[in-house]
Amino acid sequence: MNTTTIRCDICPRACRLKDGERGFCLVRVRHGSEVVLKPYAYNSGIALDPIEKKPLHHFLPGTSVLSLGTIGCNLACRFCQNWNISKKESHPEDRMQHTSAEEIVRMALEQGASSIAYTYNDPVTWFEYVLEIAELAREAGLASVAVSAGYATEKTRKLLFSAMDAANIDLKAFTDNFYRTMTSGRIQPVLDTIQYIANLPNTHLEITNLMIPGLNDSPEETRALSEWVFNNAGRDTPLHFSGFTPHYKLMHTPPTPTETLLRARDIARSVGLRYVYIGNRHSANGSNTHCPSCGALLIERDGYSIRRNRISEGKCPQCGCSISGTFSLAIGH
Ligand code: SF4
Repeated sequence: MNTTTIRCDICPRACRLKDGERGFCLVRVRHGSEVVLKPYAYNSGIALDPIEKKPLHHFLPGTSVLSLGTIGCNLACRFCQNWNISKKESHPEDRMQHTSAEEIVRMALEQGASSIAYTYNDPVTWFEYVLEIAELAREAGLASVAVSAGYATEKTRKLLFSAMDAANIDLKAFTDNFYRTMTSGRIQPVLDTIQYIANLPNTHLEITNLMIPGLNDSPEETRALSEWVFNNAGRDTPLHFSGFTPHYKLMHTPPTPTETLLRARDIARSVGLRYVYIGNRHSANGSNTHCPSCGALLIERDGYSIRRNRISEGKCPQCGCSISGTFSLAIGH
């Protein structure tokens, strides 16, 4: 056996692996001179969701998305909401289901989905399987959506996100200290991913910030995060402030009060962001889309359901203002 190590270049963790060794994410294994995805094409879950659940509010609103995930993760968030799949030891391979890319696309078509989402666990670590599905999906007229923490190297970032029609990137906080202590990652690669996607011509971007009481929810941090999004992703990038519910290693941290999310929305709007949403908490108007020009109610939502969508050809029917996003399916670029 070769005992020298090689570095994995999929994510910034840059694990040094001996032959046969698994990386931190638990799904990349060194085989000779390569670091491969193993297991390949085994799913921890497949379900039909509303696209609003990803969350994506400006990408094919009201449509269904076939969502799938595998196992493992390249971060170690103490508040992980999917820890039962991000930690392989609690979800052995032999209980997983092998599903080929062809089968995934066929299921999406049969179930009437408009898109396929790579979600539940971070698609960065299983990007080869994602790319195989996305290529077939595109040929079948289906869109592809990545839900990711964006913790990727430049190489993986380009390969993965340029193949997506939409992405929601989880910007977990706006301090490197939070990333180090709560996720065992760093913030800069995530910011680099957001900037990269924001500049892609054919990939719609939305951002989610999960607000955890006492850890990342100060008004100063929310303002700094919002200003960064405004300056680097643009005022039209939808931003979702999402409520935390106790999970995994943060079972004793209280849930996020709705007032914190409302305050965050006010701050983000005050710096100039035009589409700001509240998630995981019921709030009148918290998930509705309004015209940034005349204020007309454009999409009325009730949880993940759409009650009414008045956007016509991507525009406000009242004043004609163009609304940022993708409102009809034209896959094939
Ligand atoms: S993808 Fe996995 S093995 Fe590769 S550097 Fe990241 S955590 Fe390590």
